[in-house]
Order: sequence, then structure tokens, then C-alpha cells
Amino acid sequence: MSTVWLRDPLAVHLGRDRDPRDAGGGIVIDTAAGTIVELVPTGAAPAQGRESVDEIVDASEHVITPGLVNTHHHFYQTLTRAWAPVADKPLFDWLITLYPVWARLTPKALELATTVAMAELLETGCTTAADHHYLFPTGMDEAIDVQVDVVRRLGMRALLTRGSMSLGVDDGGLPPQSTVQDPEVILEDSRRLVGAYHERGEGAQVQIGLAPCSPFSVTTDLMSESAVLAEELDVRLHTHLAETLDEERFCLERFGLRTVDYLESVGWLGERTWIAHGIHFDTEEIARLGAAGVSVAHCPTSNMRLASGIARAVELEDAGVHVGLGVDGSASNDASNLIREVRQALYLQRLRYGSAEVTCARVLDWATGGSAAALGRADIGRIEVGRQADLAMFRLEGLAFSGSHDPIPALVLCGAEKADRVMVGGAWRVLDGHVVGLDKEALIAAHREEARALVAG
Ligand SMILES: [Zn+2]
Repeated sequence: MSTVWLRDPLAVHLGRDRDPRDAGGGIVIDTAAGTIVELVPTGAAPAQGRESVDEIVDASEHVITPGLVNTHHHFYQTLTRAWAPVADKPLFDWLITLYPVWARLTPKALELATTVAMAELLETGCTTAADHHYLFPTGMDEAIDVQVDVVRRLGMRALLTRGSMSLGVDDGGLPPQSTVQDPEVILEDSRRLVGAYHERGEGAQVQIGLAPCSPFSVTTDLMSESAVLAEELDVRLHTHLAETLDEERFCLERFGLRTVDYLESVGWLGERTWIAHGIHFDTEEIARLGAAGVSVAHCPTSNMRLASGIARAVELEDAGVHVGLGVDGSASNDASNLIREVRQALYLQRLRYGSAEVTCARVLDWATGGSAAALGRADIGRIEVGRQADLAMFRLEGLAFSGSHDPIPALVLCGAEKADRVMVGGAWRVLDGHVVGLDKEALIAAHREEARALVAG
């Protein structure tokens, strides 16, 4: 066993139901196993003795949180950030304008976009991310394979979803025909990817999920068939749902159903499912989602950016829904900054529920334990003995934190922007605020070039 002791942290977020003094003396990690082996109480030393620890990291200027978990993204969209034609549009107009641009995506552009998004997430304290990739135009058959390579290179964890679109504009859907695929091709590729890459059990680095894009871009049959296949392969199911009132009207007109009734009609109302956004639910629907064990990826910045609405996150959680946070795709955020998203969630949800219900600790729980549960993982998201050593360490320095008193509220309220160190499975992936081994300048230069080419056509 090789151990590292993160000694005497300035503060630790163990969760709103736990006493931070239990780890006031720090955290001991077995770097070979990649797990947390001891929480050291305030004022104490590791049980094995201070001399026999292999490495000691002075954490006296760091706030330590569980590695943040991002539950919804579209990595490829880093290529279309802040593009003027959609800067001020709501969801449907935004999508219709962007689809033809996205249809020109290439494997090289996707590789760079995925690297940028994941590096940005890592540097903001994120250790596990879900991506929803549903674009498979000609030449992009191996999109998920490309993403798997990037995940492994960066040493992050990811739940990559094999997304899909099968309902084109000719059949009453929203996306252009050139971006939709035959359902049989989609299901066969889903099966191939799960077989090739999906890791099971504790410590999994790469996982695959199934993710038909949305009610207005996928046929009812493909929704049902995806649920059956996910059950057979025992993988998770993801889609966008109840994001806008336009979508609700679409479901009423096309299916004669509200969104949750539609979800139930295609066999998705269960614990395997996590949905992005989940804004426009009534109280009865919230109770049904909670009873079924569905999870929700709350994406506050995207919801404000597209003026989609305010999710009823507190009521969802109180009903039994696992609530996690997501930055969403970079064409609607336009950042992949997860610690910033914690602050956005706090403020947006306070507008609906007030400050007593929406505490700094509760929102940090959403970004960690809540998000991990939404992705179906019990081995990450909390700092506990036996769990994976996925940790983020933030320094509260500079003008932004000067004069702040209490570290955990300061982390959220003063607006932390970057982590100083990030560990995934016992290995340092961010040191001094930078992804280890990544030539960031070269990446940015190549990514910018691809972004320009994509928009130019
Ligand atoms: Zn999305």
C-alpha cells in the first residue's frame, strides 16, 4: 500500500448530514488502490502513524470537496460557444439554427472539443462527467470511440451516452434529415459500444449509457426500444425532458400526452433513468417521478441562458428524486465550469425557495452525492472510507476571497472559479490549477481553428 495524507485541511465538505470534524485532520488515500482508507479527526494523526505515510500534502490552505460530478453536457458544443446567430434565441430557434452547423462535425473536431470540455471540467473540480452525444452525421460513426480515447488520456471518469436522433423534419420532428439515423443502426451501435467499453463495478472509469435526444427528435418506438435494450444490457438511460413549454406543447399535439405521461408510455419511469432539465412538471408529476426513482440533472445556467424556466429542484429532491447538477452543452452555458454552476444553482433556486431551503451545503451535495446517485454510482460523490479517492482541493486566495470568514460558504458565495488540485482514483490529474501533461496552448489553438472551420462551413 502506498499512502498520501492530505493533512489538516482548512475545511472539508463531507455533506450536509455529517460532521466536518470527522475529517478535520485530513484524509488518507491508498494511491495504488485509488480509494480513501482513513478520515483523520481534527487534531489527530493517521492510525498507521505519521512516519509511515508515504507522502504528506499540506492542505491547510485548501477546502476539500468530493470530486464534483457533472450529469449533463454535450462536449462537441464547445465548438459553437457564444455564436452571435443564437446568442439571444430560445431553445427551438436555437436548435434549428445550430443543427446545420453541427451536421458538419468531424472526428478531429470532436476529439478536440471533448478534450477542451473535459479539461475545463477537471480544472473546475470535476472528476466524473456524463456526456450526451447524439450527432452521428456521415463520417461520425465512431464518435463515442473518439471520446473514450480522450477520457482515458485525461484520466477522468465519464459516462458517455450513445445518443440518437431518428425523427427528422420530414416526419414532424425538429432536426434536419441529414442528422437522423435509422433506429436499427442506432440500437446495433449502442450494443457494440456497451460491449466494447462499459465498465461495471466500483472504480469504473468509462461507462456507456443510452440516450435518445428528446421527444421532438426521436420516434416513440426508438424510445421504447432503447428502454428495453438498456434493461437487457443493464446500463443507464438519459434524455432531455420538460425543458421548455414549446416541448410540452409538442408532446400534447403529437402524442396527446404531457411529458411524464409520455415518459411512462415508453417504459422510462424507473430508477435507470436520469433526465436533463426537468423544469415543467406539476406537483402530481413530481410525486410520480420521486416514487419511480427517476433522477434529474439540473442545469441552472443553461435554463437561464435559454430562458427555459426554473426547475422545481427542492420539491423534486423532497419527493425522492436524485437531483444532480449539469453545466449542459457549451452552446447554452457557455462554460464547462462546475464549481461556478454550484453558485448558479444556489442563486436560481433561492429565487424559488428562499435561502433557508437552499443552503450552500445542500447545493454542494447536489454537485457531489446527488450527481453521483443520478449517474447510478455509489462509489463516488462522498468522502468516505472505501469510496474512490476522487477529490477537489480549492484555494481561497486573491482579491475575491479577501475578507471572507467561513471557508465552505466562501467557496460558493465568493465565486471559486478553479480548483488548485484534483485527484481521480488516487492519481493527481490537476496540479497548480492545470491539467497534468496537457499542452493547453496547443489545444486551444487547434480547437479554435476547428471551431472557425465548422461555423464557416
Ligand atoms: Zn442538453
